[in-house]
Amino acid sequence: MTMISLTSAEERDAILAAVRDYAMTELAPFAIERDEAHLFPRDALGRAGDLGLGGISVREEHGGTGLSRTDTVAIFEELATGDPTIAAYISIHNMVAWMIDTYGDDAQRDEWLPRLTAMTEFGSYCLTEPGAGSDAASLTTRAVRDGDDFVLTGVKQFISGAGEAGVYVVMARTGDDGSGTGGGARGISAFLVPAGAEGLGFGAVEKKMGWRAQPTRQVVFDRVRVPATAMLGDEGRGFAIAMSALNGGRLNIAACSLGGARWALDRAVDHVQDRVAFGEPLAEKQSILFTIADMRTELQAARLMVRDGAQAVDEQAPDATMRCAMAKRFATDAGFDIANRALQLHGGYGYLQDYGIEKVVRDLRVHQILEGTNEIMRLIVGREMLRPAGSETMRRAS
Ligand SMILES: Cc1cc2nc3c(=O)[nH]c(=O)nc-3n(C[C@H](O)[C@H](O)[C@H](O)COP(=O)(O)OP(=O)(O)OC[C@H]3O[C@@H](n4cnc5c(N)ncnc54)[C@H](O)[C@@H]3O)c2cc1C
Repeated sequence: MTMISLTSAEERDAILAAVRDYAMTELAPFAIERDEAHLFPRDALGRAGDLGLGGISVREEHGGTGLSRTDTVAIFEELATGDPTIAAYISIHNMVAWMIDTYGDDAQRDEWLPRLTAMTEFGSYCLTEPGAGSDAASLTTRAVRDGDDFVLTGVKQFISGAGEAGVYVVMARTGDDGSGTGGGARGISAFLVPAGAEGLGFGAVEKKMGWRAQPTRQVVFDRVRVPATAMLGDEGRGFAIAMSALNGGRLNIAACSLGGARWALDRAVDHVQDRVAFGEPLAEKQSILFTIADMRTELQAARLMVRDGAQAVDEQAPDATMRCAMAKRFATDAGFDIANRALQLHGGYGYLQDYGIEKVVRDLRVHQILEGTNEIMRLIVGREMLRPAGSETMRRAS
């Protein structure tokens, strides 16, 4: 499914203006309050659905907005200027919608996509387990065939949107990879599990450093029975399906880091011009000016990396996974550093909740951990570079 330049410059500007307006009216004014009260804003998310943000990469004929990844990352940057936490949840929801559009059959699309694209219901992506994080292929949740059904048993860890979602895409083991170890990526299948399925339960809402306006919980499968028709894609393809969704997910999370960092940088630029110390505005100090210049430069470098990753996905480039990994690592590190420097430039005020800067620092920190940690991003890039001869196209450093 290649999607390149689906929008003209005018269409793109109009979409981004509408998203900016949404971010500034529906997200930014409530971000601190939602963070403090741990409020998951279902209504505001529904209005994102009205704007077409529930299925950004879902094809138009299936009720989505059908935008390219290049347009999508620009949208997530804008959303995150309003609230990185909510933008990031919209990203995860979009991963789920994209997976159903891409790998689902007609019945599965008909069942889930109208509600997901409208954001009257939400999606959760269930890969991580208590004993299987970075090494996700070692997951142990099992789905055992029983007549026309599968019965799922196991525990998923750190699931965003758990308890609020209407559908859970669950990666579970239906077999092994033939290696005799009983494990491996090839023995994993993906399932669509509806909220309310008997035996589906949730752990307590985790108390987190950031991302407080969206719930993170364990999802517990106690002999959850689903029909075989709930399998997404072919048996044994679940891990590949889960990984394919991560290219887009990583770009979107990286774009959320850009948006959060941009917002914090703008606040810092205002602050250093207003704040007087030693008889003049802070902005008159050359070290402050250099700091602002570096923050802006690094933000731009990160944005270009994210665009490059998005272009690679749009073009279905053979090195897309590596370019997405590089973009995710670079932009999420840069985003956190920029927000943290914005906090420092605010002095003690940056540390106060009312200014919102400390919240963005807390929110962006987790972007370095999830959708594959930044160490795993290095692993992807490093392995690609060190592949045996014969993979020149993938690894050439240009
Ligand atoms: C707020 C939040 C929301 C999340 N949402 C979801 C979700 O919706 N769905 C979902 O499936 N998961 C979700 N996750 C899980 C997330 O993807 C994992 O936390 C992440 O993949 C890391 O796994 P882990 O926490 O088990 O850490 P581990 O895998 O135990 O890693 C611990 C440390 O070791 C490093 N490490 C591991 N392996 C290597 C290696 N080979 N080389 C070098 N370093 C290595 C890691 O980089 C990390 O620094 C979420 C996590 C958080 C915190």
